[in-house]
Amino acid sequence: MNNLEELKSKGFRITKARTAILELLEKSNAPVSADEIVASLGVNKSTVYRELDFLESQDMITDIRLDNAKNMYESKSKNHHHHLYCIKCKKIEEVDMDKDLDVFERKLEKDTKFKIKKHSLEFFGICLTCQ
Ligand SMILES: [Zn+2]
Ligand SMILES: [Zn+2]
Repeated sequence: MNNLEELKSKGFRITKARTAILELLEKSNAPVSADEIVASLGVNKSTVYRELDFLESQDMITDIRLDNAKNMYESKSKNHHHHLYCIKCKKIEEVDMDKDLDVFERKLEKDTKFKIKKHSLEFFGICLTCQ
């Protein structure tokens, strides 16, 4: 069942804006800001913020803070990954690295007796173009 079908089965309305925002986040290969959603869908700002809150409450999207000034949003249906964030041009790249992280996570659990449920890890630096 995809996200839209799940919302329907829970009795929520499938509005045009809701569908468009979900699809945009599922298709995007980098996190997207609310302003970018407004610009690319032509949906008004308050609707976008309301929909983002709603989708977050349904655990379908997650917000990521890479730039202090704004939240970025990402679909949770995408594979788990991490981000490289260029502090100069603000470009975001997605990277997978969980084979190594899994090993570290298991060691951390063993050492600390802490049951780890999830992690998030973002890298900040300067991309090749900006160097
Ligand atoms: Zn850059
Ligand atoms: Zn990870």
